[in-house]
Amino acid sequence: MEEAAIETVVIGAGVVGLACARALAMAGREVIVLEAADAIGTETSSRNSEVIHAGIYYPAGSLKALTCVAGKHALYAYCDSHGVPYNNCGKLIVATEEDQAQGLQSIIEKAADNGVEDLEWLDGDQAAALEPALSCRAAALSPSTGIVDSHSLMLAYQGDAEDHGAMLAFNSPVLRGEARSDGIALQIGGDTPMTLLAKQVVNAAGLHAQTLAARIDGVPSQTIPPTFYCKGSYFTVSGKNPFARLIYPMPQDAGLGVHVTLDIGGQLRFGPDIEWVDSLDYEVDPGRADSFYAAIRAYWPGLQDGALAPGYAGIRPKIAKPGGKNLDFMVLGPEESGVEGLVQMFGIESPGLTASLALADHVRDLLAA
Ligand SMILES: Cc1cc2nc3c(=O)[nH]c(=O)nc-3n(C[C@H](O)[C@H](O)[C@H](O)COP(=O)(O)OP(=O)(O)OC[C@H]3O[C@@H](n4cnc5c(N)ncnc54)[C@H](O)[C@@H]3O)c2cc1C
Repeated sequence: MEEAAIETVVIGAGVVGLACARALAMAGREVIVLEAADAIGTETSSRNSEVIHAGIYYPAGSLKALTCVAGKHALYAYCDSHGVPYNNCGKLIVATEEDQAQGLQSIIEKAADNGVEDLEWLDGDQAAALEPALSCRAAALSPSTGIVDSHSLMLAYQGDAEDHGAMLAFNSPVLRGEARSDGIALQIGGDTPMTLLAKQVVNAAGLHAQTLAARIDGVPSQTIPPTFYCKGSYFTVSGKNPFARLIYPMPQDAGLGVHVTLDIGGQLRFGPDIEWVDSLDYEVDPGRADSFYAAIRAYWPGLQDGALAPGYAGIRPKIAKPGGKNLDFMVLGPEESGVEGLVQMFGIESPGLTASLALADHVRDLLAA
């Protein structure tokens, strides 16, 4: 089989892989992105809430906190300079029960620990003055939260990467690899099977990152975390959208609760809920609407019967088991991955879209030595 040599390979053309390809190409690397699908962003990067998160919930000093806050600032500036549609609409986190007020205060303090100091406490009347359809006892207003057109963002990353010499190869699944003394050899399937010998490899394969890592000979198995799939379904709402901001209930164990999200066209949708699954099945079960009605009416009593229609679903690439702690992003540089030139990205769930530019800078720095 043909073997070619290249300096840097990024595996996966989701928002994080494309951001990494962009950062590495702009740092002067010769980059190729290998993507199994026939287009960019066909998996988690096109199955999410498209929210630019403020950086509120994550433990101070964690990679999630650091890259979310840095990524948010970088993302707004990037959208401005590259014409990527976004809306800095803000969000309200709402306490619908009296005993949630303390939790709301803790969220405001936690946000401040992460350098997000603009959260504002509102009583129920103040919140209703902003969002008349809303019913709550108190709320925290996060002015720096927003939404972004994720597909336009990925196209812009791709454009920057290509302008700096990067190549994208679609229909190019990486089947397996081998860490050798002269680099990392990757066996690529698809229409034109070949072997690529790379000095540097970034595994940004999202939900498949652990499976792929296990297929690279020479990667110590103890460096690969387990994989768990946590599905989140969305429902759309027909009729007029009564909200100008995103509305979030108090966060839950594995996610942020069934929240109001808006797309860039102002279309209202609700989700994602939490369902632990064994396979990558993106069908939305219409029966899940029942629990949505109850969750949404806690803060929007005006939701009409029959208004919800199944939308789409995404799957969170979790590295902690159901009921376990929410773990940090796991980005292993060459030293931690045990293979020279290899960066592994595991558990890149939310806020990976928001954090994409900062995560890419981190990966570039890990490979700079
Ligand atoms: C329900 C849900 C809601 C979310 N909401 C938000 C939000 O509002 N804001 C936010 O900031 N983040 C959010 N996220 C997180 C965000 O969507 C992800 O962090 C981000 O999309 C991850 O991007 P990625 O490039 O790592 O992965 P992906 O987009 O999954 O890309 C991985 C790519 O790798 C390719 N691939 C896999 N295996 C191989 C192989 N062997 N060879 C070649 N290619 C391969 C796949 O085809 C895919 O294109 C949400 C996630 C979910 C699931």
